[in-house]
Amino acid sequence: MANAEDSVEAPDVGELTPPDRTLMGPGPSDVHPRVLRAMSTPLVGHLDPSFVEIMDEVQELLRYTFRTDNQWTIPVSGTGSAAMEAAIGNVVEPGDTMLVPTNGYFGGRMASMARRAGGEVVEVDAPWGEPLEPADVSDALAEHDPDVFGFVHAETSTGVLQPNVSELTAAAHDHDALVIADSVTSLGGVELRVDEWGIDVAYSGPQKCLSCPPGASPLTLSDEAMDKVLSRETDPRSWYLDLSLLEGYWGDERAYHHTAPITNVYAIREALRLVAEEGIENRWDRHERLAGALKAGVEAMGLEMNAPDDYWLPSLNAVRVPDGVDDGEVCDALIDQYDLEIASGLGDLEGEIFRIGCMGHSARPENVIYVVTALGDVLE
Ligand code: PLP
Repeated sequence: MANAEDSVEAPDVGELTPPDRTLMGPGPSDVHPRVLRAMSTPLVGHLDPSFVEIMDEVQELLRYTFRTDNQWTIPVSGTGSAAMEAAIGNVVEPGDTMLVPTNGYFGGRMASMARRAGGEVVEVDAPWGEPLEPADVSDALAEHDPDVFGFVHAETSTGVLQPNVSELTAAAHDHDALVIADSVTSLGGVELRVDEWGIDVAYSGPQKCLSCPPGASPLTLSDEAMDKVLSRETDPRSWYLDLSLLEGYWGDERAYHHTAPITNVYAIREALRLVAEEGIENRWDRHERLAGALKAGVEAMGLEMNAPDDYWLPSLNAVRVPDGVDDGEVCDALIDQYDLEIASGLGDLEGEIFRIGCMGHSARPENVIYVVTALGDVLE
């Protein structure tokens, strides 16, 4: 029996009542109610036969969404950065060279992860707000002869969609480099064809165009990429993200490695089921249509898009901040007055753009009308 003097006062924390926001920022997006419902279903064990079946279904749905036949397609436990680190930390071996882009925030994160993996980083340059030029990528490949080439298909920091992906992958393969694509803001929202476009490794996050809470993040690797991973001379630096160990759980064996985030796997299963029901091509069309309406709406208000149509990213609309307007004040006013989230720019585009997402369940007419009218009101 504890003494009365020993007891400390328990924190007086009230019931959880988060505000009801409309999420039109760079992610997370609004979660579909069916996904939320899936998350409130009972837990089973992570090796339960019923869960093993769910794992198979998630893998099949992920292959459909990535447009790939890659056997090695899994949800990595963790956020998009975990899938990113699983990709880079396994494919890049100490002494390898990785070519990364400089045209946005997430190319910088790729570089940082490649260095931590013991790789040497070389860069292909393009300004923030512009895509990579295939000729520049070819020149960089010829100059540096990298083992791995990484690029960001949909740069969330700049609202730029990388066009000409097949050209980039073909150039990389001519130099025997494996290609890693960041598809965090494109998977399930913007055309992405992993196999047809020759992408060796692609990773993503669930909280963008899949409209699912973060926690289990898509990753796919070709047989060639997996051969490199499985024939490494040294173990990857992360035990948790070592794909040769994760193979035991997600491969045929289904043996314990770590306890899967069961509820997040339920969630991504339901989110991917929604993708399959809609049809992936229809989903790409919906994003383009709804984001097109958003773009037309902001342009009709006299605002300017940062990216020209050739590389406009429907899932993340970068809108130029008008002269004399404080972007932070506008974002705050939208939250305060409208419970509406959009974001400001960062890095080289700090203070210059608003970032307005149009992703997954947030890519709906009511959200688009709401963000355009609310922004118009706050800017008046
Ligand atoms: N890559 C891109 C393009 C992203 O937009 C993000 C997140 O916004 C990430 C990687 C990292 O994902 P997370 O924040 O889920 O770890």
